Amino acid sequence: MYSSTRVAICGAGPSALSQLHAFESARKSGLQIPEIVCFEKQNDLGGQWNYTWRTGFDEYSEPVHSSMYKNLWTNLPKECSEFVDYSFDKHFGQPITSFPPRTVFSDYIRGYAEQNNVRQYIQFNIVVQWISYSEDKKKFNVLVKDLRKDETRSEEFDYVIVATGHFSMPNIPYFNGIETFLGRILHSHDFRSAQDFADKHVLLIGNGFSAEDIALQLYKYGAKSVTLSYRTKPKGFKWPNEVKEVPLLVKIDKETVYFKDDSSQDVHAIIFCTGYLHYFPFLDNNLRLKSTNCLYPPGLYKSMIWLNQPRLIYLGMQMQAFSFNVGNIQAWYARDVILGKITLPSTKDKMQFDMKLWQVKEEAVQNFPDKANFLKEYILDLIDATDYPRFDIDGMIKILLECLKSRFENLITYREKTYASTLTDTTAIQHHTPWLREMDDRLENFIRK
Ligand code: FAD
Repeated sequence: MYSSTRVAICGAGPSALSQLHAFESARKSGLQIPEIVCFEKQNDLGGQWNYTWRTGFDEYSEPVHSSMYKNLWTNLPKECSEFVDYSFDKHFGQPITSFPPRTVFSDYIRGYAEQNNVRQYIQFNIVVQWISYSEDKKKFNVLVKDLRKDETRSEEFDYVIVATGHFSMPNIPYFNGIETFLGRILHSHDFRSAQDFADKHVLLIGNGFSAEDIALQLYKYGAKSVTLSYRTKPKGFKWPNEVKEVPLLVKIDKETVYFKDDSSQDVHAIIFCTGYLHYFPFLDNNLRLKSTNCLYPPGLYKSMIWLNQPRLIYLGMQMQAFSFNVGNIQAWYARDVILGKITLPSTKDKMQFDMKLWQVKEEAVQNFPDKANFLKEYILDLIDATDYPRFDIDGMIKILLECLKSRFENLITYREKTYASTLTDTTAIQHHTPWLREMDDRLENFIRK
Protein backbone atom coordinates (compact mmCIF):
# COMPACT_ATOMS: atom_id res chain seq x y z
CA MET A 1 0.00 0.00 0.00
CA TYR A 2 2.82 2.44 0.86
CA SER A 3 6.02 2.85 -1.14
CA SER A 4 9.42 2.84 0.56
CA THR A 5 9.67 6.63 0.17
CA ARG A 6 9.20 8.48 3.48
CA VAL A 7 7.74 11.99 3.75
CA ALA A 8 7.82 14.13 6.90
CA ILE A 9 5.24 16.89 7.26
CA CYS A 10 5.91 19.54 9.91
CA GLY A 11 2.76 21.01 11.46
CA ALA A 12 -0.93 20.07 11.31
CA GLY A 13 -2.55 23.41 10.49
CA PRO A 14 -4.78 23.96 7.43
CA SER A 15 -1.84 23.73 4.98
CA ALA A 16 -0.62 20.40 6.33
CA LEU A 17 -4.20 19.08 6.48
CA SER A 18 -4.48 19.88 2.77
CA GLN A 19 -1.27 17.96 2.16
CA LEU A 20 -2.54 14.94 4.07
CA HIS A 21 -5.82 15.12 2.19
CA ALA A 22 -3.94 15.23 -1.14
CA PHE A 23 -2.04 12.04 -0.30
CA GLU A 24 -5.04 10.29 1.24
CA SER A 25 -7.20 10.99 -1.81
CA ALA A 26 -4.46 9.54 -4.06
CA ARG A 27 -4.32 6.46 -1.83
CA LYS A 28 -8.11 6.08 -1.94
CA SER A 29 -8.04 6.23 -5.71
CA GLY A 30 -5.72 3.22 -5.74
CA LEU A 31 -2.32 4.88 -6.10
CA GLN A 32 0.61 3.76 -4.04
CA ILE A 33 1.66 6.65 -1.80
CA PRO A 34 4.78 7.20 0.34
CA GLU A 35 4.81 6.60 4.07
CA ILE A 36 3.64 9.89 5.56
CA VAL A 37 4.49 11.07 9.08
CA CYS A 38 3.05 14.39 10.24
CA PHE A 39 4.58 15.94 13.38
CA GLU A 40 2.48 18.47 15.30
CA LYS A 41 3.68 20.15 18.47
CA GLN A 42 0.19 21.04 19.72
CA ASN A 43 -2.16 18.44 21.13
CA ASP A 44 -4.67 18.87 18.30
CA LEU A 45 -4.91 19.81 14.64
CA GLY A 46 -6.01 23.23 13.36
CA GLY A 47 -2.85 25.35 13.67
CA GLN A 48 -3.51 29.04 14.27
CA TRP A 49 -7.21 28.35 14.75
CA ASN A 50 -6.61 26.61 18.08
CA TYR A 51 -7.16 29.36 20.63
CA THR A 52 -5.11 29.16 23.79
CA TRP A 53 -5.23 31.35 26.89
CA ARG A 54 -1.49 30.85 27.21
CA THR A 55 1.04 33.42 26.06
CA GLY A 56 4.80 33.02 25.85
CA PHE A 57 5.36 29.34 26.45
CA ASP A 58 3.12 26.30 26.65
CA GLU A 59 3.02 23.58 29.28
CA TYR A 60 6.12 21.98 27.72
CA SER A 61 8.10 25.25 27.57
CA GLU A 62 7.61 25.44 23.79
CA PRO A 63 6.76 28.85 22.29
CA VAL A 64 2.98 29.24 21.99
CA HIS A 65 2.00 28.99 18.32
CA SER A 66 -1.42 30.60 18.00
CA SER A 67 -1.86 34.37 17.73
CA MET A 68 -5.64 34.22 17.86
CA TYR A 69 -7.69 35.96 20.52
CA LYS A 70 -10.96 35.47 22.31
CA ASN A 71 -13.93 36.71 20.30
CA LEU A 72 -12.02 36.87 17.02
CA TRP A 73 -14.43 37.01 14.08
CA THR A 74 -13.04 36.61 10.58
CA ASN A 75 -12.45 39.89 8.82
CA LEU A 76 -12.71 38.47 5.31
CA PRO A 77 -15.80 36.64 4.05
CA LYS A 78 -15.72 32.89 4.59
CA GLU A 79 -16.65 32.59 0.88
CA CYS A 80 -12.99 33.47 0.14
CA SER A 81 -11.71 30.70 2.41
CA GLU A 82 -13.78 27.70 1.42
CA PHE A 83 -12.15 24.34 0.70
CA VAL A 84 -13.27 23.51 -2.84
CA ASP A 85 -14.32 19.96 -1.94
CA TYR A 86 -15.77 20.78 1.48
CA SER A 87 -18.20 23.68 1.46
CA PHE A 88 -19.48 25.41 4.59
CA ASP A 89 -22.97 24.21 3.58
CA LYS A 90 -21.75 20.63 3.67
CA HIS A 91 -20.18 21.05 7.10
CA PHE A 92 -23.01 22.91 8.83
CA GLY A 93 -25.96 21.52 6.87
CA GLN A 94 -27.47 25.00 6.82
CA PRO A 95 -26.45 28.44 5.53
CA ILE A 96 -24.41 30.50 7.98
CA THR A 97 -23.22 34.11 8.04
CA SER A 98 -20.32 35.33 5.88
CA PHE A 99 -18.16 36.40 8.85
CA PRO A 100 -18.17 33.64 11.47
CA PRO A 101 -16.17 33.67 14.71
CA ARG A 102 -12.97 31.68 15.19
CA THR A 103 -14.81 28.82 16.92
CA VAL A 104 -16.89 28.23 13.81
CA PHE A 105 -13.89 28.34 11.48
CA SER A 106 -12.05 25.98 13.73
CA ASP A 107 -14.99 23.56 13.72
CA TYR A 108 -15.09 23.72 9.91
CA ILE A 109 -11.35 22.95 9.61
CA ARG A 110 -11.79 20.02 11.98
CA GLY A 111 -14.69 18.73 9.85
CA TYR A 112 -12.52 18.96 6.75
CA ALA A 113 -9.82 16.91 8.45
CA GLU A 114 -12.23 14.28 9.78
CA GLN A 115 -14.10 13.87 6.49
CA ASN A 116 -10.79 13.27 4.74
CA ASN A 117 -9.66 10.80 7.36
CA VAL A 118 -6.26 12.41 7.85
CA ARG A 119 -5.89 12.25 11.65
CA GLN A 120 -4.35 8.77 11.25
CA TYR A 121 -1.15 10.35 9.88
CA ILE A 122 -0.57 12.89 12.66
CA GLN A 123 1.62 12.44 15.72
CA PHE A 124 0.59 15.05 18.29
CA ASN A 125 2.75 16.66 20.99
CA ILE A 126 5.81 16.04 18.84
CA VAL A 127 7.95 19.06 18.07
CA VAL A 128 10.40 19.09 15.17
CA GLN A 129 13.68 20.30 16.61
CA TRP A 130 16.22 19.99 13.82
CA ILE A 131 16.31 19.01 10.15
CA SER A 132 19.46 18.54 8.10
CA TYR A 133 20.16 16.90 4.76
CA SER A 134 22.88 14.33 4.13
CA GLU A 135 24.27 14.47 0.58
CA ASP A 136 25.90 11.09 1.15
CA LYS A 137 22.73 9.29 2.16
CA LYS A 138 20.41 11.51 0.08
CA LYS A 139 18.14 11.67 3.11
CA PHE A 140 16.88 14.24 5.57
CA ASN A 141 17.62 13.61 9.19
CA VAL A 142 14.71 14.83 11.32
CA LEU A 143 15.18 15.20 15.05
CA VAL A 144 11.91 15.35 16.97
CA LYS A 145 10.99 15.55 20.63
CA ASP A 146 8.07 13.77 22.21
CA LEU A 147 6.92 16.53 24.56
CA ARG A 148 4.94 14.29 26.89
CA LYS A 149 7.72 11.75 27.33
CA ASP A 150 10.50 14.37 27.22
CA GLU A 151 12.39 12.14 24.75
CA THR A 152 14.11 12.93 21.47
CA ARG A 153 14.59 10.65 18.48
CA SER A 154 15.86 10.93 14.89
CA GLU A 155 14.29 9.57 11.75
CA GLU A 156 15.32 9.60 8.10
CA PHE A 157 13.07 10.90 5.33
CA ASP A 158 13.28 11.31 1.56
CA TYR A 159 11.16 14.47 1.51
CA VAL A 160 10.30 17.13 4.07
CA ILE A 161 7.28 19.42 3.87
CA VAL A 162 7.37 22.47 6.12
CA ALA A 163 3.87 23.73 6.96
CA THR A 164 4.55 25.52 10.24
CA GLY A 165 2.94 28.85 9.27
CA HIS A 166 4.38 32.35 9.53
CA PHE A 167 2.22 34.22 12.01
CA SER A 168 3.82 33.14 15.28
CA MET A 169 7.17 34.86 15.76
CA PRO A 170 6.56 38.55 16.57
CA ASN A 171 8.46 41.30 14.80
CA ILE A 172 9.12 43.94 17.47
CA PRO A 173 10.99 47.11 16.44
CA TYR A 174 12.61 49.39 19.02
CA PHE A 175 11.24 52.84 19.81
CA ASN A 176 13.22 55.51 21.57
CA GLY A 177 12.48 55.55 25.32
CA ILE A 178 10.32 52.42 25.37
CA GLU A 179 12.19 51.14 28.43
CA THR A 180 10.76 54.09 30.41
CA PHE A 181 7.13 53.24 29.56
CA LEU A 182 5.02 52.78 32.69
CA GLY A 183 2.15 50.78 31.19
CA ARG A 184 1.69 47.39 29.59
CA ILE A 185 3.59 46.48 26.40
CA LEU A 186 2.70 43.47 24.26
CA HIS A 187 2.71 42.20 20.68
CA SER A 188 -0.53 41.23 18.94
CA HIS A 189 0.70 37.61 19.15
CA ASP A 190 0.07 37.81 22.91
CA PHE A 191 -3.21 39.73 22.70
CA ARG A 192 -5.93 37.46 24.07
CA SER A 193 -8.77 39.55 25.40
CA ALA A 194 -10.02 43.05 24.60
CA GLN A 195 -11.86 43.13 27.95
CA ASP A 196 -8.47 43.64 29.64
CA PHE A 197 -8.31 47.11 28.09
CA ALA A 198 -11.78 48.41 28.99
CA ASP A 199 -11.56 52.06 30.13
CA LYS A 200 -7.94 52.29 29.00
CA HIS A 201 -6.19 54.49 26.48
CA VAL A 202 -4.37 52.16 24.08
CA LEU A 203 -1.74 52.79 21.42
CA LEU A 204 -1.47 50.31 18.53
CA ILE A 205 1.72 50.46 16.49
CA GLY A 206 0.91 49.60 12.87
CA ASN A 207 -2.26 49.86 10.81
CA GLY A 208 -2.40 46.56 8.93
CA PHE A 209 -5.10 43.87 9.25
CA SER A 210 -4.13 42.97 12.85
CA ALA A 211 -4.11 46.57 14.04
CA GLU A 212 -7.40 47.29 12.35
CA ASP A 213 -9.13 44.31 13.90
CA ILE A 214 -7.65 44.76 17.37
CA ALA A 215 -8.66 48.45 17.27
CA LEU A 216 -12.25 47.43 16.58
CA GLN A 217 -12.17 44.79 19.31
CA LEU A 218 -10.88 47.34 21.81
CA TYR A 219 -13.59 49.77 20.80
CA LYS A 220 -16.23 47.02 21.07
CA TYR A 221 -15.13 46.04 24.56
CA GLY A 222 -15.00 49.58 25.95
CA ALA A 223 -11.49 51.00 25.59
CA LYS A 224 -11.55 54.73 26.34
CA SER A 225 -9.47 55.54 23.27
CA VAL A 226 -7.52 53.68 20.60
CA THR A 227 -4.74 55.32 18.60
CA LEU A 228 -3.19 53.62 15.61
CA SER A 229 0.26 54.84 14.64
CA TYR A 230 1.03 54.26 10.96
CA ARG A 231 4.38 54.10 9.21
CA THR A 232 3.48 55.12 5.67
CA LYS A 233 -0.11 56.30 5.35
CA PRO A 234 -3.40 56.18 7.27
CA LYS A 235 -6.01 53.57 6.38
CA GLY A 236 -8.54 56.34 5.92
CA PHE A 237 -11.50 54.45 7.41
CA LYS A 238 -14.43 56.22 9.00
CA TRP A 239 -13.36 55.18 12.48
CA PRO A 240 -15.67 55.60 15.48
CA ASN A 241 -14.94 58.76 17.52
CA GLU A 242 -12.91 56.81 20.07
CA VAL A 243 -10.44 55.59 17.41
CA LYS A 244 -7.94 57.68 15.46
CA GLU A 245 -4.86 57.28 13.27
CA VAL A 246 -1.64 59.26 13.79
CA PRO A 247 1.79 59.22 12.10
CA LEU A 248 4.64 57.08 13.36
CA LEU A 249 5.62 56.93 17.01
CA VAL A 250 8.99 58.62 17.55
CA LYS A 251 9.51 58.69 21.31
CA ILE A 252 8.11 57.34 24.57
CA ASP A 253 8.62 59.03 27.92
CA LYS A 254 7.04 57.23 30.90
CA GLU A 255 3.30 57.28 30.08
CA THR A 256 3.51 59.77 27.19
CA VAL A 257 3.94 58.79 23.55
CA TYR A 258 5.11 61.30 20.91
CA PHE A 259 4.42 61.11 17.19
CA LYS A 260 6.08 62.36 14.00
CA ASP A 261 3.56 65.21 13.63
CA ASP A 262 4.63 66.56 17.08
CA SER A 263 1.40 65.42 18.71
CA SER A 264 1.53 63.43 21.95
CA GLN A 265 -0.76 61.46 24.21
CA ASP A 266 -0.80 59.58 27.52
CA VAL A 267 -1.60 55.88 27.17
CA HIS A 268 -1.98 52.87 29.48
CA ALA A 269 -0.84 50.22 27.01
CA ILE A 270 1.11 49.79 23.79
CA ILE A 271 0.29 46.90 21.47
CA PHE A 272 2.77 46.16 18.69
CA CYS A 273 0.82 45.19 15.57
CA THR A 274 4.05 45.10 13.63
CA GLY A 275 3.72 41.74 11.96
CA TYR A 276 5.56 38.46 12.12
CA LEU A 277 8.87 36.97 11.06
CA HIS A 278 9.29 33.89 8.91
CA TYR A 279 11.06 31.82 11.54
CA PHE A 280 12.37 28.27 11.13
CA PRO A 281 14.84 27.62 13.94
CA PHE A 282 14.58 23.86 13.32
CA LEU A 283 16.09 23.98 9.82
CA ASP A 284 19.77 23.77 8.97
CA ASN A 285 21.23 26.97 7.45
CA ASN A 286 21.23 25.69 3.89
CA LEU A 287 17.55 24.70 4.11
CA ARG A 288 16.16 27.74 5.92
CA LEU A 289 13.78 30.09 4.12
CA LYS A 290 14.51 33.76 4.80
CA SER A 291 11.60 35.87 3.68
CA THR A 292 9.37 38.79 4.47
CA ASN A 293 5.60 38.54 4.11
CA CYS A 294 5.52 38.77 0.31
CA LEU A 295 3.73 37.19 -2.63
CA TYR A 296 6.66 35.17 -3.95
CA PRO A 297 9.16 34.22 -1.22
CA PRO A 298 12.78 34.15 -2.46
CA GLY A 299 14.47 30.79 -3.00
CA LEU A 300 11.20 28.93 -3.60
CA TYR A 301 10.37 27.64 -7.07
CA LYS A 302 6.59 28.01 -7.54
CA SER A 303 6.62 29.71 -4.13
CA MET A 304 7.06 26.31 -2.51
CA ILE A 305 9.97 24.15 -3.75
CA TRP A 306 13.34 24.92 -2.13
CA LEU A 307 15.63 25.73 -5.05
CA ASN A 308 18.79 24.39 -3.42
CA GLN A 309 17.21 21.10 -2.41
CA PRO A 310 13.93 20.41 -4.24
CA ARG A 311 13.03 17.57 -1.89
CA LEU A 312 12.28 20.24 0.70
CA ILE A 313 8.87 21.83 0.16
CA TYR A 314 7.33 24.78 2.01
CA LEU A 315 3.55 25.30 2.12
CA GLY A 316 1.65 28.52 2.75
CA MET A 317 4.64 30.84 3.01
CA GLN A 318 3.41 33.70 0.85
CA MET A 319 1.17 36.60 1.76
CA GLN A 320 -2.24 35.15 2.45
CA ALA A 321 -5.57 35.56 0.69
CA PHE A 322 -7.73 32.60 -0.31
CA SER A 323 -5.35 30.83 2.06
CA PHE A 324 -7.17 27.48 2.24
CA ASN A 325 -7.41 27.22 -1.56
CA VAL A 326 -3.81 28.22 -2.13
CA GLY A 327 -2.80 25.68 0.54
CA ASN A 328 -4.87 23.00 -1.14
CA ILE A 329 -3.47 23.63 -4.60
CA GLN A 330 0.10 23.74 -3.33
CA ALA A 331 -0.54 20.45 -1.55
CA TRP A 332 -1.79 18.84 -4.77
CA TYR A 333 1.27 20.14 -6.63
CA ALA A 334 3.66 18.93 -3.91
CA ARG A 335 2.03 15.51 -3.88
CA ASP A 336 2.35 15.18 -7.66
CA VAL A 337 6.01 16.21 -7.56
CA ILE A 338 6.65 13.53 -4.92
CA LEU A 339 4.64 10.91 -6.81
CA GLY A 340 6.62 11.72 -9.96
CA LYS A 341 3.56 12.97 -11.85
CA ILE A 342 5.09 16.42 -12.18
CA THR A 343 8.66 16.64 -13.41
CA LEU A 344 10.54 19.68 -12.13
CA PRO A 345 12.76 21.59 -14.58
CA SER A 346 15.98 19.69 -15.12
CA THR A 347 18.32 22.46 -13.95
CA LYS A 348 18.46 25.08 -11.26
CA ASP A 349 18.86 27.76 -13.95
CA LYS A 350 15.54 26.79 -15.52
CA MET A 351 13.79 27.03 -12.16
CA GLN A 352 15.44 30.37 -11.48
CA PHE A 353 14.28 31.65 -14.85
CA ASP A 354 10.66 30.83 -13.94
CA MET A 355 11.09 32.40 -10.48
CA LYS A 356 12.47 35.57 -12.03
CA LEU A 357 9.35 35.94 -14.18
CA TRP A 358 7.18 35.79 -11.06
CA GLN A 359 9.40 38.18 -9.16
CA VAL A 360 9.07 40.73 -11.98
CA LYS A 361 5.29 40.33 -11.78
CA GLU A 362 5.42 40.84 -8.03
CA GLU A 363 7.40 44.06 -8.44
CA ALA A 364 4.55 45.46 -10.55
CA VAL A 365 1.97 44.84 -7.80
CA GLN A 366 0.77 48.12 -6.32
CA ASN A 367 -2.59 47.61 -4.66
CA PHE A 368 -4.97 44.98 -3.37
CA PRO A 369 -6.63 44.17 -6.73
CA ASP A 370 -3.12 43.62 -8.16
CA LYS A 371 -2.33 41.25 -5.29
CA ALA A 372 -5.53 39.31 -5.88
CA ASN A 373 -4.78 39.03 -9.59
CA PHE A 374 -1.23 37.89 -8.89
CA LEU A 375 -2.62 35.12 -6.69
CA LYS A 376 -5.14 34.20 -9.37
CA GLU A 377 -2.39 33.77 -11.94
CA TYR A 378 -0.37 31.77 -9.44
CA ILE A 379 -3.32 29.51 -8.61
CA LEU A 380 -4.05 28.87 -12.29
CA ASP A 381 -0.39 28.10 -12.97
CA LEU A 382 -0.39 25.37 -10.29
CA ILE A 383 -3.86 24.04 -11.10
CA ASP A 384 -2.86 23.51 -14.73
CA ALA A 385 -0.18 21.09 -13.63
CA THR A 386 -2.44 18.93 -11.41
CA ASP A 387 -5.88 17.33 -11.39
CA TYR A 388 -7.08 19.76 -8.69
CA PRO A 389 -10.64 20.84 -9.55
CA ARG A 390 -10.95 24.28 -11.12
CA PHE A 391 -13.04 26.73 -9.15
CA ASP A 392 -14.46 30.20 -9.59
CA ILE A 393 -11.42 32.22 -8.59
CA ASP A 394 -12.82 35.34 -10.31
CA GLY A 395 -15.94 35.01 -8.16
CA MET A 396 -13.80 34.81 -5.02
CA ILE A 397 -11.77 37.86 -6.04
CA LYS A 398 -14.98 39.79 -6.66
CA ILE A 399 -16.21 38.96 -3.14
CA LEU A 400 -12.88 39.91 -1.61
CA LEU A 401 -12.78 43.29 -3.35
CA GLU A 402 -16.42 44.01 -2.53
CA CYS A 403 -15.70 43.27 1.11
CA LEU A 404 -12.65 45.55 1.17
CA LYS A 405 -14.79 48.32 -0.33
CA SER A 406 -17.60 47.81 2.18
CA ARG A 407 -15.14 48.31 5.06
CA PHE A 408 -14.61 51.85 3.82
CA GLU A 409 -18.35 52.40 3.80
CA ASN A 410 -18.86 51.23 7.37
CA LEU A 411 -16.22 49.54 9.44
CA ILE A 412 -18.63 48.60 12.19
CA THR A 413 -21.29 46.95 10.06
CA TYR A 414 -19.31 45.40 7.17
CA ARG A 415 -19.57 42.00 8.89
CA GLU A 416 -23.34 42.13 8.48
CA LYS A 417 -23.04 41.85 4.69
CA THR A 418 -23.79 38.49 3.16
CA TYR A 419 -22.14 36.89 0.13
CA ALA A 420 -23.00 33.86 -2.00
CA SER A 421 -20.72 30.83 -2.00
CA THR A 422 -18.93 30.39 -5.34
CA LEU A 423 -19.14 26.64 -4.77
CA THR A 424 -22.77 26.10 -3.82
CA ASP A 425 -24.39 29.40 -4.76
CA THR A 426 -25.98 29.54 -1.30
CA THR A 427 -26.28 33.08 -0.02
CA ALA A 428 -25.11 33.52 3.56
CA ILE A 429 -27.63 34.50 6.20
CA GLN A 430 -27.41 37.44 8.57
CA HIS A 431 -26.24 36.63 12.08
CA HIS A 432 -28.96 36.95 14.73
CA THR A 433 -27.02 39.69 16.57
CA PRO A 434 -25.04 42.57 15.04
CA TRP A 435 -21.28 42.09 15.45
CA LEU A 436 -20.92 45.14 17.71
CA ARG A 437 -23.40 43.75 20.25
CA GLU A 438 -22.45 40.08 19.91
CA MET A 439 -20.23 39.19 22.88
CA ASP A 440 -20.65 35.42 22.65
CA ASP A 441 -18.51 33.60 20.09
CA ARG A 442 -19.42 30.06 21.10
CA LEU A 443 -20.41 27.68 18.29
CA GLU A 444 -23.71 26.83 20.08
CA ASN A 445 -24.65 30.49 20.23
CA PHE A 446 -23.61 31.06 16.65
CA ILE A 447 -25.77 28.37 15.07
CA ARG A 448 -28.88 28.98 17.20
CA LYS A 449 -31.61 30.49 15.03
P1 FAD B 1 -0.72 27.42 10.89
O1 FAD B 1 -2.19 27.53 11.00
O2 FAD B 1 0.11 28.44 11.54
O3 FAD B 1 -0.27 25.95 11.35
C1 FAD B 1 1.08 25.60 11.55
C2 FAD B 1 1.15 24.40 12.49
O4 FAD B 1 2.52 24.01 12.64
C3 FAD B 1 0.63 24.69 13.90
O5 FAD B 1 -0.30 23.71 14.27
C4 FAD B 1 1.89 24.61 14.79
O6 FAD B 1 1.63 24.14 16.09
C5 FAD B 1 2.76 23.65 14.01
N1 FAD B 1 4.20 23.80 14.28
C6 FAD B 1 4.92 24.95 14.28
N2 FAD B 1 6.22 24.69 14.54
C7 FAD B 1 6.31 23.34 14.72
C8 FAD B 1 7.39 22.47 14.99
N3 FAD B 1 8.64 22.92 15.14
N4 FAD B 1 7.13 21.14 15.12
C9 FAD B 1 5.87 20.66 14.96
N5 FAD B 1 4.80 21.45 14.68
C10 FAD B 1 5.03 22.77 14.56
N6 FAD B 1 -6.82 33.27 7.38
C11 FAD B 1 -8.02 33.29 6.75
O7 FAD B 1 -8.17 32.63 5.73
N7 FAD B 1 -9.08 34.03 7.23
C12 FAD B 1 -8.95 34.75 8.39
O8 FAD B 1 -9.91 35.40 8.82
C13 FAD B 1 -7.70 34.72 9.09
N8 FAD B 1 -7.54 35.40 10.26
C14 FAD B 1 -6.36 35.31 10.93
C15 FAD B 1 -6.22 35.99 12.14
C16 FAD B 1 -5.04 35.92 12.87
C17 FAD B 1 -4.92 36.65 14.19
C18 FAD B 1 -3.96 35.16 12.36
C19 FAD B 1 -2.66 35.06 13.12
C20 FAD B 1 -4.07 34.50 11.14
C21 FAD B 1 -5.27 34.56 10.41
N9 FAD B 1 -5.43 33.91 9.19
C22 FAD B 1 -6.63 33.96 8.53
C23 FAD B 1 -4.29 33.21 8.55
C24 FAD B 1 -4.06 31.79 9.09
O9 FAD B 1 -2.73 31.73 9.47
C25 FAD B 1 -4.37 30.76 8.04
O10 FAD B 1 -5.79 30.72 7.91
C26 FAD B 1 -3.93 29.33 8.35
O11 FAD B 1 -3.98 29.06 9.73
C27 FAD B 1 -2.54 29.03 7.82
O12 FAD B 1 -2.36 27.63 7.93
P2 FAD B 1 -0.94 26.93 8.03
O13 FAD B 1 -1.21 25.48 8.18
O14 FAD B 1 -0.09 27.36 6.90
O15 FAD B 1 -0.23 27.49 9.33
